[in-house]
Amino acid sequence: MSDPAVVHLVTTVERADPAELAEAGRRAFRAAGLSGFVRGLTAVKSHFGEEGGEGFLPPPVLRAVVDEVKAAGGTPFLTDTTTLYTGKRSHAVDYAALVQAHGFTFEAVGATFVVADGLVGANETEVRIDGVHHKTVALAADALRAGSAVIVSHVTGHLACGFGATVKNLGMGLASRRGKLRQHSTLRPHVDPDACTACEQCLPTCPTGAIAPAKARRGASPAMAIDSGKCSGCGECLASCRDDAIRFDWKAESRRLQESMAEHALGYCRRMAGRIGFLTFVTHVTKDCDCMGKRQKPLCGDLGVLAGTDPVAIDQAALDLLHERTGRSLESLSYPRLDGSFQLAHGERIGLGTRTYKLVKAPG
Ligand code: SF4
Ligand code: SF4
Repeated sequence: MSDPAVVHLVTTVERADPAELAEAGRRAFRAAGLSGFVRGLTAVKSHFGEEGGEGFLPPPVLRAVVDEVKAAGGTPFLTDTTTLYTGKRSHAVDYAALVQAHGFTFEAVGATFVVADGLVGANETEVRIDGVHHKTVALAADALRAGSAVIVSHVTGHLACGFGATVKNLGMGLASRRGKLRQHSTLRPHVDPDACTACEQCLPTCPTGAIAPAKARRGASPAMAIDSGKCSGCGECLASCRDDAIRFDWKAESRRLQESMAEHALGYCRRMAGRIGFLTFVTHVTKDCDCMGKRQKPLCGDLGVLAGTDPVAIDQAALDLLHERTGRSLESLSYPRLDGSFQLAHGERIGLGTRTYKLVKAPG
């Protein structure tokens, strides 16, 4: 068994406001000694929310991290990558505007936002990892050019992984468009013609035009069908169908997706070894991730902020804390068909981190 990783915890009140979250983040950053990893241009990687959503970490949290990085002598910039799916983050211009609209202005946060994978997600670097699924992984080039990185993550459920936090923020969140496509490459949804009501809600959500009416059935409207040759596996249509007519093989495909995500995370962590730290908020934990442009109620009260240098250990600690608080697994509260631990088991197998950890609570 590997040596336990140290994970620091700063607890919060049940419904922490932005100022309280920021203070907890600041204390966790200091408790874990993250200033020791800061070098020059420092990527503060987070998720700045999708249009219509509000569960993302608020600007004062990022302000606290930016201030800590500056105090350590670094030059921080906020960063994230563009998305595969349509929406306000599919290219850098819209994403930069959304970041401003969500309050992450220079005045509020003290740092500028730079999209790490370029205008349309093509600014990338292949990093060799010799993993189980990938020999190389395609990552956002400017995230790799940074002197150091602080990965600021938010724990949520996830419709394809069951759970998303630090490993997902790294693996999916720092992959270029090509890297994201590779991770989704086995996700192939199909439409159940008996469940489809032909409402056409899914049609505008598909960025590749893979969904179209199938041949008309006698006495019924034509159900939709998905052209697997055109489908990129982005998964956007899954959330659009209110009749649960779009299906995929949850267990098999989710496992491959999570393992691929862990391998992309490994690529980034290896290249940034000794120059990267993690801050993960177990607060406002919702069924779906912050990519969903909708208001969501939290599944439980806020727990606190975790910090350290091992992304696998931090995510395992987050799951354990949630289980301790609610008496149930996060997946059972969000997507019971899924098992979100594949990303952690694979992360441990490939050397991304360890699930064995020692939790150190910061004094109140
Ligand atoms: S959203 Fe669902 S029910 Fe509506 S057309 Fe698409 S697959 Fe059919
Ligand atoms: S059909 Fe494929 S490409 Fe289109 S939204 Fe669904 S998963 Fe994405």
